Amino acid sequence: MSSVVETRQASPTFEKSRKTSKKEEVPIDIDIPDNYVSWTLRNSKAAPPITLGNLLQNIQWVSFIVLTLTPSLALYGALTVKLQWQTAVWSVIYYFITGLGITAGYHRLWAHRSYNASLPLQYFLAMAGTGAVEGSIKWWSRGHRAHHRYTDTELDPYNAHRGFFWSHMGWMLLKPRHKIGVADVSDLSKNPVVRWQHRWYIYLIIGFGLVLPMLVAGLGWGDWAGGFFYAGAARLTFVHHSTFCVNSLAHWLGETPFDDKHTPRDHFITALATIGEGYHNFHHQFPMDYRNAIKWYQYDPTKWFITVCSWFGLASHLKVFPDNEVKKGQLTMQLKKLRETQDVLTWAPEEELLPVISWESFQDQAVKRPLIVIAGFIHDVSDFIDEHPGGRHLLVKFIGKDATTAFFGGVYDHSNAAHNLLSMKRVGVLHGGVQHGLQDKAVPPAQRLRVARYNELGGSPYNSSTAVSDNEGLLG
Ligand SMILES: [Zn+2]
Ligand SMILES: [Zn+2]
Repeated sequence: MSSVVETRQASPTFEKSRKTSKKEEVPIDIDIPDNYVSWTLRNSKAAPPITLGNLLQNIQWVSFIVLTLTPSLALYGALTVKLQWQTAVWSVIYYFITGLGITAGYHRLWAHRSYNASLPLQYFLAMAGTGAVEGSIKWWSRGHRAHHRYTDTELDPYNAHRGFFWSHMGWMLLKPRHKIGVADVSDLSKNPVVRWQHRWYIYLIIGFGLVLPMLVAGLGWGDWAGGFFYAGAARLTFVHHSTFCVNSLAHWLGETPFDDKHTPRDHFITALATIGEGYHNFHHQFPMDYRNAIKWYQYDPTKWFITVCSWFGLASHLKVFPDNEVKKGQLTMQLKKLRETQDVLTWAPEEELLPVISWESFQDQAVKRPLIVIAGFIHDVSDFIDEHPGGRHLLVKFIGKDATTAFFGGVYDHSNAAHNLLSMKRVGVLHGGVQHGLQDKAVPPAQRLRVARYNELGGSPYNSSTAVSDNEGLLG
């Protein structure tokens, strides 16, 4: 079955629509084959590796110049222009404005549609995002949607498996070795604000990237050079690397509290560096959620900004993933960790593996070694007889006898720890089963609640033999 699917070819319609798609309203992925990912990965040849010899032909010059010239200007300014405090404050404010343009605008609004924004807010975010000089909304969202759809594969434009530097900025400096995966942005092509920004992009980046920050500082307090170098170039360098960290640092540093299938991770430091985008493990699991941080004390200014906008009617329909499903992800990861702990511990020998001994045989063998019956199990207490906190004599008294009543409160109501330790000394099962018929006495406390995989659960709802119901064929 799978081989049939594997050998299928991409439909000619898809290839044609991908090459000649002028009608932007038609989703580009409408005709992709069912096996698009495996087909593309198998059939798209990687470009030859980049070497010193072919390096110059493989540089993406526009982004290369932007990403090298900007920090160079910032450095030159830092060495030649005195930083005025008003310019410093303005640079930080403009860093947050343009950063939010990317995080609240490009990312959460346009790439993920995690909320609706009124027209004034859309224009504000489009202009702010332009000031971050990271490409148009349409270009950025197309790449980002492919990143989510093909995370950690060669179809992911910033595939984290290609290394920290590649996912941070290498993918912009050098030509990609693979064509990135298809992702539809036809919804954005219909959006007037997105179209407006895409159309005037070159003029807008000059205006919001450099001219506006310079104008504010120049007209405000006469610091034209500071406005250009600090609020312009230095701020731009920071906003670039801050947002690039979402693709690099957030796929490298931190925890995976919601899922560990892919590289995205949660970390406070990444959140600090990225205006709240650092809870990336959550984000990749629930990308349409307007939040990245779900706890009130976690640092997510982008979420706070969207929330405040909603109070003023500028944002609406803030999407939140059902908490019940979020908690399932968290629980799965917690159980996984607990399972690892459980797996390295030594447990009482399995009941099925123990020999079944008759009462007479137990009596005979108890003459040669100290055997005691408790809750239907025969225990060899030879290595414990001198360690028994209640004294040796109480154990000796029960050799060859049933001490169930005495153990469970008759003489002393033993602790759960004592019960767990006792179970480790099991050497056999007394023929006739658990004499007292009390299951809770047979199962050591530490084994009453355990982490089991679905295929280890007998008679569970996941077990196909028990899943057939009387109403088979009806959807409830
Ligand atoms: Zn990511
Ligand atoms: Zn995203």
